[in-house]
Amino acid sequence: MTPIYEGKAKRLWATENPETLRMEFKNDATAFNGEKKASFENKGRLNNEISTLIYGFLENAGVPTHFVRKIDDTNVEVKKVTIVMVEVIVRNLSAGSYCKRTGIAEGQVFSQPIIEFSYKSDELGDPLINDDYIREMGLATPEDLVHLRKSALQVNAILTDFFAKCGLKLVDFKLEFGRLVSDPSQIVLADEISPDGCRLWDLKTGEKMDKDRFRRDLGNVMEAYAEVLGRLKANS
Ligand code: ADP
Ligand code: UDP
Repeated sequence: MTPIYEGKAKRLWATENPETLRMEFKNDATAFNGEKKASFENKGRLNNEISTLIYGFLENAGVPTHFVRKIDDTNVEVKKVTIVMVEVIVRNLSAGSYCKRTGIAEGQVFSQPIIEFSYKSDELGDPLINDDYIREMGLATPEDLVHLRKSALQVNAILTDFFAKCGLKLVDFKLEFGRLVSDPSQIVLADEISPDGCRLWDLKTGEKMDKDRFRRDLGNVMEAYAEVLGRLKANS
């Protein structure tokens, strides 16, 4: 069997149901648009478990997502969507490319969350775009964007609270959305939510508990992911 798609961190497989896919979490890690690569034992399992827990939590809070069920350690069944080719990034504190772009130091707390969009294109390095680009590029309608913003802020509010209970600060994160193939009028939250696509800092020590440990060679990458999972489990 060959996957219908192989990405940097996951594979997508067809199922017997034309409206669902099997999404497999790999042990591979990449950073800086695929320039830095490594593989970590248990990464697929940890991200699958973390993402499954968070998607279940969001579904219970009334957020429509692609999640159907966990299949096994590294696989979930998800509703098949056509991905909106816009990455929605939410920032509560300054970090990463916000600091690079502005020269502002890491850790500034924003008065309100920042929402930004980037064009999901590996060839172009996921460039920052705005509402007007998205409309003119035909990536989403202005009405879709209202929904994406609202939904991203809702997810941010729910997860900021949840992570705080786990002793973690939700610094920033990336979301992807898609239109259900079974009903393209419905846009749902897709892809994964894990320390690969979130910045999480320990509330007490400020220690980084996410993919920045890999990006910056801080060591103990999987130990941090396992700690995040342990805390999420203890608080759910
Ligand atoms: P990348 O494509 O950036 O290398 P991944 O390795 O995480 O990323 O691959 C997963 C791919 O699956 C992503 O391109 C993502 O947009 C896509 N995807 C996530 N959820 C769904 C879904 N429910 N239906 C279809 N595609 C999805
Ligand atoms: N992010 C992601 N995929 C991307 C770009 C960003 O998951 O292609 C996440 C990243 O992990 C961080 C947040 O989105 O939690 C904001 O990332 P940023 O724009 O600062 O980019 P970075 O400098 O981390 O590449």
